Amino acid sequence: MKCLVCPRNATGNYYGAHTCEGCKGFFRRMLESGTEYNCNFGGKCEVTIRAACKACRFRQCLSVGMRKRRIPGRKAVNVLRKSFADNQEGIFALSVSRI
Ligand SMILES: [Zn+2]
Ligand SMILES: [Zn+2]
Repeated sequence: MKCLVCPRNATGNYYGAHTCEGCKGFFRRMLESGTEYNCNFGGKCEVTIRAACKACRFRQCLSVGMRKRRIPGRKAVNVLRKSFADNQEGIFALSVSRI
């Protein structure tokens, strides 16, 4: 799977989107620094591997769904719990039907 921000290969889901290590690090640095960058070209730069324009790369990060939250939201955890519970019931039903 490709990084949603730049043309590299994604290495995982970071901050809510599939990105590469580079974009993960970039996004984190942007959040930590709190600096706002302005694009000199009207916000229309293509995000390439060299990613010269920080403003456009950061905008791209946000537009693909990257957010500050690092841990999965409550909703994601609930979905996980639910599927786990469903599995447990399934296993239980299976063992009951065997008896
Ligand atoms: Zn990337
Ligand atoms: Zn730009």
